[in-house]
Amino acid sequence: MTEIKDYIVYPDNIEIYVPPTMPAKQNKFYKNLAFSICWLVSKFAIRAGSTIEKVNMDGLKPPYIVLSNHTQFADFIVSFRATRPYNFNNIATLDGFVGMAKIMEKLGCACHRKFTTDISLIRAVHKVLHDYGDILYMYPEARYTNVGTTAIIPDVVAKLVKKNKVPLVTMIHNGNYLNAPFWDFRQYRKVPFKATMKQVLTAEQVQEMSVEEINEVIQREMSYDDYKWQKENNIRITEDFRADGLNKILYKCPHCMTEGKMVGKGTHLSCEECGKVWEMTELGEMKALEGETEFSHIPDWYEWEREKVRQELLDGTYKYEDNVHIYSLPGVEFIDLGEGKVTHDLENGFIVTGHYNGHDYRIQRTTKSLFTLHMEFAYKKLNMSDNFDVSVKDDSLYCIPSQKDVVTKLMLATEEAYKIVKEKSAK
Ligand SMILES: [Zn+2]
Repeated sequence: MTEIKDYIVYPDNIEIYVPPTMPAKQNKFYKNLAFSICWLVSKFAIRAGSTIEKVNMDGLKPPYIVLSNHTQFADFIVSFRATRPYNFNNIATLDGFVGMAKIMEKLGCACHRKFTTDISLIRAVHKVLHDYGDILYMYPEARYTNVGTTAIIPDVVAKLVKKNKVPLVTMIHNGNYLNAPFWDFRQYRKVPFKATMKQVLTAEQVQEMSVEEINEVIQREMSYDDYKWQKENNIRITEDFRADGLNKILYKCPHCMTEGKMVGKGTHLSCEECGKVWEMTELGEMKALEGETEFSHIPDWYEWEREKVRQELLDGTYKYEDNVHIYSLPGVEFIDLGEGKVTHDLENGFIVTGHYNGHDYRIQRTTKSLFTLHMEFAYKKLNMSDNFDVSVKDDSLYCIPSQKDVVTKLMLATEEAYKIVKEKSAK
């Protein structure tokens, strides 16, 4: 999966704590306490109201697996409500434990490093379902949605379902993304929350179906598009800051093709290079103030960016190179490694190099080993930076680029490069 040369050496005085992969049974007291705190914190976020619709859920008792889309922090609150009165164990990634490791452990969270292969995770899932007899709650996209649509759900999720022979439930949140989109999640738009919890496969069906058939069901049932949902339900977002930060995902101008010079501010997105301006309407559509509207549906604009990156990868013009600031996350605390360098291309994947504690280090994550890239916007734990991280088995390197609005492109490039390599090897 990875090539590690001259791995990072930490000084003896740095204590590295990694939470157990095997989750504890959920502690009811902590669960209710956490729910109450989260409810108070998020009540402002969900002030337009929230509903939970349950489909085929009558009489269903744990153990079962829930696959949920992931749109923002408030998803957790809805999951507390939806699964009552039963216990559930979340698969949580290590970065979620930073600053709250002990609480996460009491809540029965199983700790997993993002986008790495981990046999112990399979054992943790088995324990939750078959020893505790509880609900296993997973966010298989493993990050908040960038553009209100489904991210990649790896095939391995279907294998996990098949192996455990329990009912499969999906949870689709609509409205949560529109309320606090990942690219501007600290400002809340007034949008109602709608969650749909649906048993999509009984235990018998899971037993009868092949992994491929289960995968088809997962891909179909987990598909969502919040902007489409907004239009269908005529939900008007009237806040005058609704386009603030939209440039973080719509980083490329479809008029002059320049990247990194888009500005989302107020109700408009504009290109500093050619001067073209688009309005983000109350129904979440883009509208050019003058001339052609290239994309009115925001996910179409995003997918066009993906297509452009794919072309660059195929014609050999794609190459990312930057001097970055690097923080590592070997345990539940970030460690400042100082300046380093990152390159990314089709042939080599990610190569991160630097010098720390008297040693040079070099970490490579190959293209075929990484189907997507974890990224953060305005990440509080790292100085409000936009960043991405490259993980290996027992460490993660969080890289803060020096350039503006590059992380979305890097993520798209990671995904497309992975697909290209897979397609080539299939031939
Ligand atoms: Zn332009």
